[in-house]
Amino acid sequence: MRRACLGWRAVLDSAAMEFQEIAQQDGIIQVTLDGKPLTCLVCGNNSYHERNSMLNTRVREFFNIAWTGDKATNFVCTKCGYVF
Ligand SMILES: [Zn+2]
Repeated sequence: MRRACLGWRAVLDSAAMEFQEIAQQDGIIQVTLDGKPLTCLVCGNNSYHERNSMLNTRVREFFNIAWTGDKATNFVCTKCGYVF
């Protein structure tokens, strides 16, 4: 099922890590990796914004072509702004 989503998820799948996003309200997501919550290295927070959601579609399309998509996606800590 997950392979039906965006291409960068398929890249994570190929790295053999169980990666899951849990969507919260207001565009906030929680991320788990191998069943463990991804916590911010700086402040210990565990909710994030997806950085590519801040880009408009045109920019995203460009990144998908130029960078194969996965590098255009980062998680930004909602508390301190640390970028993963
Ligand atoms: Zn943080």
